[in-house]
Amino acid sequence: MEFDFVVVGAGSAGCALAAKLSENGRHSVALLEAGPRDWNPWIHIPVGYFKTMGNPATDWCYKTQADPNTANREHKWPRGRVLGGSSSINGLLYVRGQKEDYDAWRQMGCTGWGWDDVLPIFKRSETWHGPEHEDRGNDGPLLVSSKSLSREIVDHWVSAGVAAGYPLNEDYNSGDQEGVGYFQFTAHKGKRCSSAVAYLKPARSRKNLEVITNAQTTKLIIENGRATGVEFDHKGKLKTVKARHEVILSAGAIGSPQILMLSGIGPGQHLSDHGIATVVDAPEVGQNLQDHLQARPVFKTDLPTMNVETNNILKQGMIALQYALTRKGPMTMAASLGTAFLKTDDRLETPDIQFHIQPFSADNPADGPHKFSGFTASVCQLRPESMGHMELASANWRDHPHFHPNYLATPGDQQTIVRGIQIARRIAEFEPLKPHILEEHAPGEGVAKDDEDKILDWARETAVTIYHPSGTARMGVDDGAVVDPQLKVKGIDGLRIADASIMPRLVSGNTNAPCIMIGEKAADMILKDVNA
Ligand SMILES: Cc1cc2nc3c(=O)[nH]c(=O)nc-3n(C[C@H](O)[C@H](O)[C@H](O)COP(=O)(O)OP(=O)(O)OC[C@H]3O[C@@H](n4cnc5c(N)ncnc54)[C@H](O)[C@@H]3O)c2cc1C
Repeated sequence: MEFDFVVVGAGSAGCALAAKLSENGRHSVALLEAGPRDWNPWIHIPVGYFKTMGNPATDWCYKTQADPNTANREHKWPRGRVLGGSSSINGLLYVRGQKEDYDAWRQMGCTGWGWDDVLPIFKRSETWHGPEHEDRGNDGPLLVSSKSLSREIVDHWVSAGVAAGYPLNEDYNSGDQEGVGYFQFTAHKGKRCSSAVAYLKPARSRKNLEVITNAQTTKLIIENGRATGVEFDHKGKLKTVKARHEVILSAGAIGSPQILMLSGIGPGQHLSDHGIATVVDAPEVGQNLQDHLQARPVFKTDLPTMNVETNNILKQGMIALQYALTRKGPMTMAASLGTAFLKTDDRLETPDIQFHIQPFSADNPADGPHKFSGFTASVCQLRPESMGHMELASANWRDHPHFHPNYLATPGDQQTIVRGIQIARRIAEFEPLKPHILEEHAPGEGVAKDDEDKILDWARETAVTIYHPSGTARMGVDDGAVVDPQLKVKGIDGLRIADASIMPRLVSGNTNAPCIMIGEKAADMILKDVNA
């Protein structure tokens, strides 16, 4: 098998990249995906993340090592393992990040990655079904919708946020993120729009695009300092595919650095500890790992939330029927409905925390919702300083790597999460929300509002990922960077990376839209080079 381009990983970035590379019909493209096709019907029903997350048929089901800063807990880290990657199992929230995020990347030397450079890509990639705005697109493949489902408790939370003094923001994706409002979703007419649906479905009939599923890349083939193809496991058999021009890794923030290390590109000592010959000593492969950590205050309310709307089989049946007949109702719900991007200190230039307001609550979603009517005011820090790392567990490609998230390692991160929790509690004191709160379930009375040490302890004991690991093959112009601003892996020809791993700093928000942008932008750069 030989193609012009071999793309590894059909996730948010990989689908956009492969579709764009094959668009003009002049180049042949192979897209290899470790997981299966996206046939599972729960993938396409928005609320299906409850069924696909934690399910080995669609999720890698990773787990971190015990994290000393968060009470020695092992955190579950779901990642999509199916066509569409994590965009097939994610919470559907559409967030671009702050323009200052991208301007900071440019400031670090990543020319071509400032807000003015990436905004046209965000625009062209979407069809926005919401109020018109010059920064929104109207003919792209990714279908994005504004508020589709309402719940009184969420409306009250948003109003209480305004009453607490925060601005109402009707479109946090149009340049200014600050304020309270409602999430936008990668869904339309009651169906999820994953990157596979948006980009691969329309490209399915192209003769120059070969999508190979159940194909896990085991390593790169490197000849004379050039990546000339990859070896992959296909249904139990090892096969190879050659790339005439380039191999592009889009296997995500875990998969891409893992493949690099298995191929001898990584920290030399670590590779030799696992008996892997070093091809390029690249100490930062797997380093710079950043993630958003969410603390989840829960409130009991006298208004009905999903906890009670779904608490018996009859109600569940009616909800399923409503969805089957109308494509409406609770089954169209994204992971959160309300949001807020706020500053924990007025002196900050841009928001440093984000809220995810969910009209349901659970101690552990896998165990089902609480028996009482409750809602969650999840809060995360947008730009964590704490950095973790990942490394190989062994030289065997089947073994999950080891992750050390190192959450809440710095005083700045500790202070921000404490202030975020305090803001969640403060908003709950305002009309029209306050009269509907029966009790704060968590952190609860045992954690006094001004006891910052106890609040931090509670965060350490309970906070969980909001699923945005990034940065493990960071882009930059300094010697330590893994890829340059053209996304080319340093020290090897014919190899680029395009996915969440290249982010030099984690963006201020959810990461699906930024990864799709990275995939589209990579295609622009590659096609420019090949046509030069
Ligand atoms: C449960 C969950 C909820 C989330 N909620 C949201 C949300 O609401 N909004 C939002 O913006 N973001 C959300 N995210 C984050 C966002 O979806 C991801 O950051 C984004 O999809 C990552 O894109 P990617 O292209 O880097 O990787 P992925 O989309 O993860 O794609 C990587 C692909 O590569 C494949 N792969 C890996 N290794 C190999 C290999 N060796 N060989 C072949 N294929 C391989 C994987 O199977 C996968 O398909 C969520 C993520 C998860 C997991």
